Amino acid sequence: MMKRFLVDAPVCELAAWLREKGEPAFRAKQITDWIFGKLTLEPEKMKNLPAGLRKSLAGDFFAPSCRVAERVLSPRDGVVKLRLELHDGESVELVVIPARERVTLCLSTQVGCPVGCRFCASGVNGLVRNLRAGEMLEEFLLGCAEAGRKCDNIVFMGIGEGLLNFDELVKVLETLTAPEKFAMSPRRITVSTSGFVPGILKLAALEKEFTLAVSLHAPDDVTRAKIIPDKLRYPVAEILEAADVYREKSGRLCTLEYTLLEGVNDSPEQAEALGRLAVRHRAKVNLIPYNETSGAYRRPRREVIENFERTVAASGAAVTRRVERGSKSAAACGQLRARAEQKRNDEK
Ligand code: SF4
Repeated sequence: MMKRFLVDAPVCELAAWLREKGEPAFRAKQITDWIFGKLTLEPEKMKNLPAGLRKSLAGDFFAPSCRVAERVLSPRDGVVKLRLELHDGESVELVVIPARERVTLCLSTQVGCPVGCRFCASGVNGLVRNLRAGEMLEEFLLGCAEAGRKCDNIVFMGIGEGLLNFDELVKVLETLTAPEKFAMSPRRITVSTSGFVPGILKLAALEKEFTLAVSLHAPDDVTRAKIIPDKLRYPVAEILEAADVYREKSGRLCTLEYTLLEGVNDSPEQAEALGRLAVRHRAKVNLIPYNETSGAYRRPRREVIENFERTVAASGAAVTRRVERGSKSAAACGQLRARAEQKRNDEK
């Protein structure tokens, strides 16, 4: 049987395990205090536990299951991108983004991605596997350790389509927000989706105040088909209907994420159409000028980006532009993992 992840071991399981080891029941509270209160997962640091118990914990549980294999710091703004090596040798990325008094973590939900958006390195080789809830929670703890404190905001915008790993993602959301666990406000957690309609509806049914960010990238289906392959692409109208349901059930306005790609989705007509959709569906727009990699897409010129933003705003929609953060060399999602994969393949 695969080892359990200590960070998401149910308290009753932990209690049963302690009983088996002949340990008193209060040890469960000591262990969960370390994890949820002090954000410490490594048994060797749990100093109020007997040495033998620390050893048994480390032997019987993943605590943690992954390690930081690469760390890229952007000296310009303090953004740190971490490549985590998982217990089976696969990699995901985690980004720690400090801004004023706040720290935001960008977490991955899958190894690789089945959606395969054409501008994104994460989906190039498809999905390898889903992350387990314990692995995502370990990302959170490693991000907090990197930041030196508990982080304020979480965005599930790293590698993967989180809503295709729904059950594990929900376990993570529950653990992050449970008052007796990490006690975060759901409003400080953003779930991002490429527009996977069944997943948006399932998330809406939870009736929780998580923020939903929908990567629309195009105001019409013809343009969207140039950016997202058929397999997991839903029609724009269906996505926005699902986003309406989400808004009604959660009471939260959705954000439409829009990666601006030169000559693909950056025309004034597309800006007008996007603005109209955002107003009709009471959604905010977040423009993301494309972060150029070696791929075929280009970032639009500055005037084009500014003009696009003005046109969306003129329609009456609330629009923001993502500030470029992080190191140029590895800023785009999936770049560190892609390089590591390449290296792994070259060495085979
Ligand atoms: S942008 Fe997101 S959904 Fe699209 S391939 Fe990349 S990780 Fe997957």
